Amino acid sequence: MVADMQKKVGVRSVLALVYALVFLGGCSSESDHVSARGIVFDSVFTAQNVIPVLVIGSGPAGRTAAAYTARNGFATVVFEGNKPGGLLTETTYVENWPGRVRQLGTEIMEDLAEQARAAGALLVRESVTRIDGSRWPYAVTLADGQVVHALAIIIATGAAPRRLAVPGWDEYWGKDHGITSCAICDAPNYKNRAVVIVGGGDSATEMAEQLAPHARHITILVRKDHMRASESRQKRVQNLSNVTILYEREIERITGNGVEVTSVEVRNHATNSVESLPVSGVFVAIGHDPNSGLVKGIVDCDTAGYIQVQGRTQKTSKPGIFAAGDVQDHTYRQAGTAAGFGICAALDAGNFLQEIGFNPAIAQQLAPQLWKPGTVARKTLEVITKTGDFDRAIARTDKVIVVDFFAQYCRPCLNMLPIVEEVAARFSSSVQFYKADVDEVPELADRMQVVKVPCIIVYKNGEMVARLHKAMDRAELTALVSRFVA
Ligand code: NDP
Repeated sequence: MVADMQKKVGVRSVLALVYALVFLGGCSSESDHVSARGIVFDSVFTAQNVIPVLVIGSGPAGRTAAAYTARNGFATVVFEGNKPGGLLTETTYVENWPGRVRQLGTEIMEDLAEQARAAGALLVRESVTRIDGSRWPYAVTLADGQVVHALAIIIATGAAPRRLAVPGWDEYWGKDHGITSCAICDAPNYKNRAVVIVGGGDSATEMAEQLAPHARHITILVRKDHMRASESRQKRVQNLSNVTILYEREIERITGNGVEVTSVEVRNHATNSVESLPVSGVFVAIGHDPNSGLVKGIVDCDTAGYIQVQGRTQKTSKPGIFAAGDVQDHTYRQAGTAAGFGICAALDAGNFLQEIGFNPAIAQQLAPQLWKPGTVARKTLEVITKTGDFDRAIARTDKVIVVDFFAQYCRPCLNMLPIVEEVAARFSSSVQFYKADVDEVPELADRMQVVKVPCIIVYKNGEMVARLHKAMDRAELTALVSRFVA
């Protein structure tokens, strides 16, 4: 018993001492060290909801990092955010993922998730809203209000598609025939219509290939006199009969009739003139901005917002916080390099934990304090397979009815399904939820004017009361349904 106690105090002291050295350096007095040790000692062993390695983000960087830290014996949780798998789930085939000639982005991400889970990592569909960097272990607040305490954090939150600063953007962003950055999600909505793509990188050429089978005509607007996309991608696009590439062109204004886009005003830099192009969709592929807002003011970032890492490591300016992938890399920005950065961050995080004295004995001691996800209730949605089913469902109840129109090819739809099931469970006594595959019931989708998926339609007393053509997170969908429940 006494020996056990000594061992316990011994490992705790090591942890506290190293923490004090790492965190306080030479700036504090001896008495500060003593009191800091006390605070840290207590905070580690009295903290609840402890996570030894917390990964925030679920793209190639996050999932690869988690596979490594978990495999190296550190209990690892990944908070995957609202878009599990990240941007790669919005692309189709990837031809530069190491070891595979051609593989769907969604499959790559599923493989990485499977590998991380097999190593023992916990992948949780949850978003982080705040990190308190003022004390260690770091208190991290989740979207549902829970607070967890992380010993090491790997930020792998990626980057978000950039916006164009032109008039018309706010009015038409996200409209059915408007402005979008996801061709794979929205291409079918532009059947036989003319569209423009803005950008000259690989994403722009990929969008052109995704749109070509649907749109009547596609104009790619490139601001320089050359494209940045790879030669092979450029050639493939040049061979598409319904694609025109215009160089030295930039959009100055997006105009429409209040409901949908009707044209864009384009400056021709070669002639310094402005021309109007009649189109009903604007696809934007002009790069990305890093999602570093969570750690703003906690770790050093550059002027563009990319997290700065130290030398040839993935360490940020804050001990115990690491960064990997596009949130810290504006140079390479490849799925493969993001995964590589994830590996480096995982190894750095492991070294950090070992340096501060984290070892199997401590891990065992902390086991009762580890965070465990609550069980989330879900309700399987009834499936509408015939238009008649739908009409009967509407007719026979005065309950609120929610129909989730989706498609198998639509990754945002598939990502949203568990959320719809969660919300269905929450409102199970007052709302009847259905799902309908637009390819299984095309006549119903046409009749309901489902021009884009995911599409959520709400009925009350047999009347349609809301229709939203977009992927929603748990909070948004809950708020929407709550509006119609007494
Ligand atoms: P990039 O940064 O490579 O290209 C962005 C393009 O948008 C450039 O042509 C840029 O022009 C242009 N641009 C930037 N800002 C503006 C603006 N305000 N107005 C007009 N044009 C603008 O981004 P991508 O998203 O294309 O690619 C990012 C990374 O992802 C790359 O490494 C790419 O290889 C990779 N990728 C891989 C894919 C795959 O393998 N399946 C698919 C898609 C991307 P300029 O050249 O003048 O700066």
